[in-house]
Amino acid sequence: MTTDIRPFGPEAMACAGGLIGEGQPVAVPTETVYGLAADARNAEAVARIYAAKGRPDFNPLIVHVPDLAAAEKLGVFGAVERALAVRFWPGPLTLVVPRTADCPVASIATAGLDTIALRVPGHRAMQALLAETGAPLAAPSANASGRVSPTKAEHVLASLDGRIALVIDDGPTSAGVESTIARAKDGAGEILRPGPVTADM
Ligand code: AMP
Ligand code: MG
Repeated sequence: MTTDIRPFGPEAMACAGGLIGEGQPVAVPTETVYGLAADARNAEAVARIYAAKGRPDFNPLIVHVPDLAAAEKLGVFGAVERALAVRFWPGPLTLVVPRTADCPVASIATAGLDTIALRVPGHRAMQALLAETGAPLAAPSANASGRVSPTKAEHVLASLDGRIALVIDDGPTSAGVESTIARAKDGAGEILRPGPVTADM
């Protein structure tokens, strides 16, 4: 397939929304790195993320949602997780919580686990895509598995050209490193992967 690259704007977002609706993954910037997003409820769409990246499917994906209310439909938040979400969302913090009983996210997105990694991104392009699609979006970094995470649209093309339909270009990302991943443990936050949000914060 040919990979289209379009500057962020209403036309690009309409095109991206159409592709997501068809079950195609789309590369879109977040405040951390460029992500490869697909409808997390659609198992085939999520499988296309793993295929495009060459990512092993036992490695679960982060699911992006527009706000805490949307997150609470997918995951069960205790007091610690809710306090972290209120403090750091939207932003580069991912929270691992138990899946809700009626969580609509495809099990391939969470690699069959009964927990789910959730994040509310602050970037206008990812937020626009969430609004355009109304879907929770599973999105790992938009690079071939094992390569450095992309902070520019050119980096996405360098690794995924011909493997995805569209890259939304909104310039370099600001954080440049993947989100911090945390979960609640013994009444406090525990960091599973270091990132822009630190233990001190
Ligand atoms: P990436 O999408 O490459 O930034 O990687 C996401 C990472 O989030 C995975 O490699 C896991 O380490 C972590 N992760 C995602 N879902 C879960 C989960 N349910 N439990 C624990 N860690 C998770
Ligand atoms: Mg990655």
